[in-house]
Amino acid sequence: MNDEWNDEELKASVEAYVEMQRDERLGQPFIKKHYYKRLAQTFGRSEKAYEYRMQNISYVLALMGRSWVTGLKPARNIDAAVAARIEKFLWEAQRQKAMPVAAFKIAVRDEMKQKNPATPHGSTSPKSRRVTVTQFRRNAPVKAWVLQQAGGVCECCEKAAPFKNVDGLPHLELHYMRQLADGGQDIISNAVALCPNCHREIHYGANAHALVAWLYDNVARLIPE
Ligand SMILES: [Zn+2]
Ligand SMILES: [Zn+2]
Repeated sequence: MNDEWNDEELKASVEAYVEMQRDERLGQPFIKKHYYKRLAQTFGRSEKAYEYRMQNISYVLALMGRSWVTGLKPARNIDAAVAARIEKFLWEAQRQKAMPVAAFKIAVRDEMKQKNPATPHGSTSPKSRRVTVTQFRRNAPVKAWVLQQAGGVCECCEKAAPFKNVDGLPHLELHYMRQLADGGQDIISNAVALCPNCHREIHYGANAHALVAWLYDNVARLIPE
């Protein structure tokens, strides 16, 4: 795993991953091994190396708060630079763009492994840059309707919203079960009202899949897309 993956090989792996994810969503059967075999024939690594790379891609998606292919359990041992390249290729393959997050998260993760870190100096004048991102136009009546149905109670943990917002309303957040970036629809059968805790957990938690399954089982209006 230590030898460099060039852009062409990494990109081809990401494209194969996105294809598998598309098939999974459409309920079309696909054989992971066929993808690994094709990559192995093209670029000359073992099939196992590509399978492992796919699990790295799941990890990058998990850091991005996105869904990943079932059966390709996220594998964490990847460095920030490779993760950043994978993230870029993922957006290219999906013809979208979002704020890059993976490299920073991995840098934090790796820093936290240090036993006795020196007190950081930080930055007195943080640098900035402009980025262009894809934003979906959201449907206000859908969000309003789902929040009203929830009545101030999180549809996941079934606890009251933890605070009121500036409008004096219980603060709940709308979450799309299949994310709009993944082709999800902006309709009530794909949306839930969550407290900030559950919303973070469903995007970034180690047990996110269990929350998704629980919601589909317990919120009657939800229809898997
Ligand atoms: Zn909750
Ligand atoms: Zn969400």
